[in-house]
Amino acid sequence: MKKRVLITGAAGFLGSHLCDRFIKEGYRVVAMDNLITGDLKNIEHLFPLEQFEFYHTDVSNYVHVAGELDYILHFASPASPIDYLKIPIQTLKVGSLGTHNLLGLAKAKNARILIASTSEIYGDPLVHPQSEDYYGNVNTIGPRGVYDEAKRFQESITMAYHRFHGLETRIVRIFNTYGPRMRLNDGRVIPAFMGQALRGEDITVFGDGKQTRSFCYVDDQVEGIYRLLLSDYSDPVNIGNPHEITIGDFAKEIIELTGTNQKVVYKELPQDDPLKRKPDISLAKELLNWEPRVHREEGMRITFEYFKTLSKEELEKREH
Ligand code: NAD
Ligand code: UDP
Repeated sequence: MKKRVLITGAAGFLGSHLCDRFIKEGYRVVAMDNLITGDLKNIEHLFPLEQFEFYHTDVSNYVHVAGELDYILHFASPASPIDYLKIPIQTLKVGSLGTHNLLGLAKAKNARILIASTSEIYGDPLVHPQSEDYYGNVNTIGPRGVYDEAKRFQESITMAYHRFHGLETRIVRIFNTYGPRMRLNDGRVIPAFMGQALRGEDITVFGDGKQTRSFCYVDDQVEGIYRLLLSDYSDPVNIGNPHEITIGDFAKEIIELTGTNQKVVYKELPQDDPLKRKPDISLAKELLNWEPRVHREEGMRITFEYFKTLSKEELEKREH
């Protein structure tokens, strides 16, 4: 019998790519989403498949799945700063109550669970690059705290289920990941800059543009997650691309890539915006024999091609 995997946040960016990967690997996929930031368009191509099921469910409430489950991947959560600032309570709930529900389900089904943590648990890091043994520097009461602390709680409760109940758990700390199916208006820097280029608007760099990020292409991220799930390692593992760039330089790259002659304008840096971010991926290399393969230039080209296929109406939508 084919293995059966539950993916929460399945209609979102990463969740939908994970659905594709598990279907390709021959699994039966149970997909769940409440569509608060996701879009059914990302998974509608899977609806005709008999090995794919979708449930419109808020996983912060009670989660029920009939039948057996081998694996659970908990990816439900708003993930972009403007989303979790707009829906802070739901963000806290899905990271805490939602995770608790899914751990309970994993225990009842005797399933292995992988939870999607984030580089944000390192906050505005005082250690560079960030390795898994760094405890982080998070402002608990700042606007980003709702996401960061929910994810930190998520890691703690997952380790508690592992230690206390002997549950098989995996924790991936995902660093900035991009690719097709990101929402053009989700406020994250890649869709923001590409959308501005397509609409002929100025490119908005926040702050002085000296803050750094390190962008990982979605296929590399999915490969890392897949390998981690099948590994026997229960402590957190960073998955991301260590190729770091300042946001100011990145804006120039986007202007070049899109062949536009947009102007760069500077706007206020959002509160608690991390100054630097770059993953130390030594652990993933050693443990999973994994490292990213897609160069930023190639990944950005594919992503821009995707955004170019969106309708004019989608391009003009500002708020979701
Ligand atoms: P996304 O917004 O595209 O996807 C999240 C999905 O979760 C959406 O489809 C949304 O509708 C769904 N969702 C939210 N709350 C829910 C709830 N209560 N019940 C059911 N579904 C719910 O975001 P993404 O970029 O695909 O992120 C997916 C996961 O990966 C998140 O947990 C996020 O924290 C984590 N992550 C992503 C990145 C990244 O760079 N993309 C980085 C670090 C961590
Ligand atoms: N950013 C920017 N202009 C934008 C959107 C974002 O300069 O229009 C900056 C943002 O301040 C941050 C970086 O780009 O320093 C990455 O932001 P994003 O929201 O993509 O993710 P984060 O890593 O902050 O969660």
